[in-house]
Amino acid sequence: MKCDFCSAPDPAWKYPAESFVVKHVVTTKNNLTLNSIEEWYACEACYMLVEANEREILAKNSVYVLVKRCNDQRVVDRLVMEVTHLHDAFFEHRKGAAERL
Ligand SMILES: [Zn+2]
Repeated sequence: MKCDFCSAPDPAWKYPAESFVVKHVVTTKNNLTLNSIEEWYACEACYMLVEANEREILAKNSVYVLVKRCNDQRVVDRLVMEVTHLHDAFFEHRKGAAERL
């Protein structure tokens, strides 16, 4: 298992959530969709950001882990938008409080 936000190993929390589908908003291939199946796992750091509703930091952290060595700011900005869109869908579909694993 890993954190669904930043991919860190050994998440400490689980958020119950409904399954949902998101369409990519900024990629050129608009037909791409992403399925989220039920619960989301979160590491301690991401859990605290979710609880504080710090969505911008949450999205940026997630992307920076993915693209540590990307020097193209436009690519990073696009990814942050994409991840923000995905996380917004998570916030809409989560149900109930986080459970400690
Ligand atoms: Zn995390």
